Amino acid sequence: MLLQHFKNVDLALVPAKSFMHIIHIASELAPIAKAGGLADVVYGLCQETLKLKYTTGVILPKYDCIDYKQLSDLKVEQKDIWILAGSNRYNNTIWSANLGKVKIFLIESDHPERLYNRGVIYGCSDDIDRFIYFSCVAMQFLLQLEKQPDILHLHDWHTSLIALLCQKNNCKLKSVLTIHNLAHQGTCSISTLFKLGKDLLKDLDFSDSLNLLETGIIYADCVAIVSPNYQKEIQTPEGGCGLDGVLREYQKKLVSILNGIDQDYWNPTKDPYLKRNYPINELESVLKAKLENKYYLQKHLFLTQENVPLISCITRLVPQKGPDLIEYGMIRTLELGGQFVLRGSVSKSNNHIEEQFASLQEKYRNDNRIAILLINDEKLAHLIFAASDLFIIPSLFEPCGLTQMIAMRYGTIPIARMTGGLVDTVFDIDTSNKPFEKRNGFTFAFADQQGVNWALERAITCYKNHKKWQQIIKAGLNYDSSWKKSTKQYLCIYEELLTLKT
Ligand code: ADP
Repeated sequence: MLLQHFKNVDLALVPAKSFMHIIHIASELAPIAKAGGLADVVYGLCQETLKLKYTTGVILPKYDCIDYKQLSDLKVEQKDIWILAGSNRYNNTIWSANLGKVKIFLIESDHPERLYNRGVIYGCSDDIDRFIYFSCVAMQFLLQLEKQPDILHLHDWHTSLIALLCQKNNCKLKSVLTIHNLAHQGTCSISTLFKLGKDLLKDLDFSDSLNLLETGIIYADCVAIVSPNYQKEIQTPEGGCGLDGVLREYQKKLVSILNGIDQDYWNPTKDPYLKRNYPINELESVLKAKLENKYYLQKHLFLTQENVPLISCITRLVPQKGPDLIEYGMIRTLELGGQFVLRGSVSKSNNHIEEQFASLQEKYRNDNRIAILLINDEKLAHLIFAASDLFIIPSLFEPCGLTQMIAMRYGTIPIARMTGGLVDTVFDIDTSNKPFEKRNGFTFAFADQQGVNWALERAITCYKNHKKWQQIIKAGLNYDSSWKKSTKQYLCIYEELLTLKT
C-alpha cells in the first residue's frame, strides 16, 4: 500500500520525475495573505519545490487585504468561470501574478456577497460559504485548463472539499491533503453546499450535513499530518476532535511530515527588519548582535534598556495557544526580574480573549518592563524573535508549531509545553534523553501554572549560567528546520501517487 511503501523509502534514492506540476489550493500564503503558520508552510514548501525545479503554483481567493505591492505581473488569466449557486449563476475571473518565483492564481468573484472583499482572511460569519465557493471555482478553473497539473495539494478544511469534487466530476487528479489543525473542520448542511456550487455537487449521497475536513480525509489520495507526535495524538479520542475514528479507519493513507521554515525568509544574516544582522555560525557574534537588537527593541517599545532576560510570545490569541498561561507567564516573568513582550493577534470570534488582553494592556500601560501589542506587524515580529532571550509557547495543543523553530533560528531559546509538534522539535536541557548537544529548550508537560512556572524559573536561573545558556542557544542554532527533508518527503508521496493506477 502506498504509504507503507513510503515509510521504507530512502529519500535520497527517490528518482525525480523530470517534470511535475504541483498546484496548492489554500486559504493563506505568506507573506501576502497570512493569518498564521499555514501561510508560512505553503510558501516554504513552494519555494523548496521550485529550487528542485518542479513547477509550482498556488490558487488563492483574491482577498482585498492581499499585500498587492509584493506581486508582479498581475493580470487577468481567465474570464468566464461560471458557477451555478442555488438558482443563480455567478461569474468569476482568475487573475495570475508572480510572488517571487511562485506563480499564483487569484480567484475574484462576482458573487453579490463580496466574499473575499471583507478586509480579512477569516473571521466572517459565512466563512464556510466563502471557502466552499472558493473550492468550487478552483475546481471549475482546473476542469477548464488545457493542461492539468499532476498533483493537487489541499490545505485544511478550507479546500478539502476539492478532493470530493475531483471524484464527483471525474477528474483524475491526485490529491494530497495536509491537515494543519484538526480542531477546525467546517461543518455545513447539504442545502448550503447546493446554494454555493450546485453543478459541481450533483449526485451527492450524503444525508443532511457534511464535515468538510472529514470529506477530505475520506477522498484525498494521501493525508499528511504536520508532525509525527500530532499524528499519534489525533488518532486518540482525547486528541481526535471527533475525527479519531475516521483517521484510524483511513490510517493507511496517513503520513506525518514535520513542517519546516523558509530559512531564506527567516534569516538573521540578512533579515531587513533587524537592527543588527548576525551570522548564525559564530556564537560570539550572535550574542553580541542579539544584545544590540534587544536594546533597540527595548527603546522602540519604551522598555527599560537593560540586560535582563527578555521573554517574548508572538501568537494568535485563541484558546489553543493558552491565553491564561500566557498571562501567567507574563506576570511571573516580571516577578522573576525579566521583561516580557507579547505580540498577539486577536480576532472577532474570541471577544473575551481580546477583552482580557486589552485590559492587561491598560493595566501595564506605564510599566516599562512589559509591552503588550495587539496589532498585526510582521516586521516587528522579526525584530522580536531576534531581540528576545526566551520565547514562550504554552499551547494546549499544537499540531506542529513554527514559532519555536523561528525562535531557535534567531538564537532565542523556546519554552514549550510538550504537545503535538513541540514534542518533536524542542528538547529539554535538563530532562530530555537526547544527546546533550541537541537539547535546545525548556519544556513542561501539563498546561497549567505549575508547569509554566517550573520551566520559566529554570530558564531564568539558567540565564546567569553562561556556559549552559550558550550550549542551549547553540543546539537551537544547529537544529535543522529547513524544508529540505520534508519537501523530499512530499515529493516522494507525489511521485508514488502518480505511479498508482486510479
Ligand atoms: P498557528 O499557525 O497556529 O498560528 P504557528 O506557530 O504554526 O501557529 O505559526 C504562526 C506563524 O504566524 C508564525 O510565522 C508567527 O510568527 C506568525 N504569527 C502568529 N501570530 C502573530 C502575530 N500576532 N504577529 C505576527 N506574526 C504572527
